[in-house]
Amino acid sequence: MRFISYEFAGQAAIGLLTGPGQQHIIPLAAGGRRYLGQTELPSSMQALIEQGDAALEKVRAIATKAAKDPDSGIQLRLDQVRLLAPIPRPAKNIFCIGKNYAEHAMEFEKTADPSIAIPQYPVIFTKAPTTVIGPGAGIKCHSLITRALDYEVELAVIIGKQGSYIKPEEAMDYVFGYTILNDITARDLQKQHLQWFRGKSLDTSAPMGPCLVHKSEISHPDKLTVSLKVNGETRQHASTADFLFSIPTLISTLSQGITLEAGDIISTGTPAGVGAARKPPQFLQPGDRLELTISTIGTLINTVIA
Ligand code: MG
Repeated sequence: MRFISYEFAGQAAIGLLTGPGQQHIIPLAAGGRRYLGQTELPSSMQALIEQGDAALEKVRAIATKAAKDPDSGIQLRLDQVRLLAPIPRPAKNIFCIGKNYAEHAMEFEKTADPSIAIPQYPVIFTKAPTTVIGPGAGIKCHSLITRALDYEVELAVIIGKQGSYIKPEEAMDYVFGYTILNDITARDLQKQHLQWFRGKSLDTSAPMGPCLVHKSEISHPDKLTVSLKVNGETRQHASTADFLFSIPTLISTLSQGITLEAGDIISTGTPAGVGAARKPPQFLQPGDRLELTISTIGTLINTVIA
């Protein structure tokens, strides 16, 4: 199941991607009315995730019935709607992991020595909920305050249910699914303020999407190809097999003393190839088109705007 949040006729809604090339949408509200005789399916992704297995059962039933009923008239085409981020306004800050690929941790001169670069524990910071934008939305270049806006393609894990002190071997039970997140970073602000928060939390600095893929479709989140292109040129290309800290380790570590909740987002870190590490550094400019692709999930496209 591939979930999307979208806007159609001025209203935010959630749906399932369907059909050849995943170019059609089954709106969950209309699907619930037509196939289940009920209207109480949640209208937001956050609420859907919070309802847990009960809601997923309903969604599965809708998907099965809709597949046999292509002329129902309830389906929309993807090009009829405006995609939103899967979770357009997270309930809390996005948990982010720094330095989770050795090659990225060592790609700066200052940290070329692995004994300095490779962290002993996961590096954890957060981005404000106001950073989130959807597919196709403009990434503001904030030229009044930064000259060093950078990209970072990342696999984002969406938590499916509340938990604390989660054991690594049980951590995957707490995952709802996966999406793509661009951890846009103002490198100069990241350095200036010592704590990374400001440099990581400018408005529009967390493009997310295009869809939220349920974990049942990704049996090996530890073997996904992660890549990013700027104006068609590949800048980042790696596999989640190269994580320094696995998804279970990250979930378990974060949950030790911090309760994780349904809808929480953990962005798992970026591979080598960021603009700041290029020689000379190469930062984002208005008009730059960013294409982030993760295998099985899809491609997230955003353009930098003035
Ligand atoms: Mg990052």
